[in-house]
Amino acid sequence: MKTSKYLVKPGDNIDLNKVDADEHHIYKGDKETALAEIKLLNLELDKLQKVQHAEKKHKILIVFQGMDASGKDGAIRNVFNSVNPSGVYVAHFGAPSRDELSRDFLWRIHNKVPAKGEMVIFNRSHYEDVLIVRVQKLMPKLVWQNRYKHINDFEQMLANEGTSIYKFYLHISNDEQRRRLQSRINNPDKHWKIDPNDFKDREKWGDYLEAYNDVIIKTSTNWAPWYIIPANKKWYRDLLISNILVTELSQLKMKYPSPKADYTGMVIK
Ligand code: ADP
Repeated sequence: MKTSKYLVKPGDNIDLNKVDADEHHIYKGDKETALAEIKLLNLELDKLQKVQHAEKKHKILIVFQGMDASGKDGAIRNVFNSVNPSGVYVAHFGAPSRDELSRDFLWRIHNKVPAKGEMVIFNRSHYEDVLIVRVQKLMPKLVWQNRYKHINDFEQMLANEGTSIYKFYLHISNDEQRRRLQSRINNPDKHWKIDPNDFKDREKWGDYLEAYNDVIIKTSTNWAPWYIIPANKKWYRDLLISNILVTELSQLKMKYPSPKADYTGMVIK
């Protein structure tokens, strides 16, 4: 699959209002064949992560952002369901605590970045500090406006120090969000997932889309690129993410450490 269509290059002119969240163009199969393919890709991802964990050289950071109900949890569950849990961590960033708020916005983020041999998945991230903070006016404009530069500098520092960064924006339509939030209401087992703020945020859909648009334009860099993933169809979302990760991680040319001696043919007494 030619996934480069979804990669945002620095200087690309993005208009999220024009991005079709239902689109599934570059895949010729259907949902059933896609699910089988995702299974195979997930096994590939497992192999790559095994080598990464053994080699202890690369640090891999994968960022997930998207509106409420865009499928961040689901994508993480489906894409990483075959990897070895040791060496893979998910960091979820909710509203900051008082302690976190009394430091700079990157303090809690930096604390969770991957070590050598680790793969860390951010479910929400430092991007909330230029999204909800901007839309809900939690800080003055002057403060959040400076953060794009701080974010680019921070990510560049991580990249220079050996972290590979991949960022996924899960793009759903307004209608799809309504359907998903409604289905949570219709299913009492999902009521725990409902946050009254989701409805408040939904009223500001246009403001969020504009904020996401700015984030993607200002922070898709060569060292930490964004991918815009059409996410109305969950299977297409997962297929794209798995594909991109397997392709990108394969290019890191990771390998198992060399053995401490030549053990070929050795028989244990
Ligand atoms: P979920 O990610 O499943 O929605 P939560 O119910 O914990 O999980 O919601 C996280 C909430 O925390 C979101 O509304 C998000 O916008 C908010 N949040 C995350 N980071 C920040 C931040 N830096 N400042 C303010 N709110 C934040």
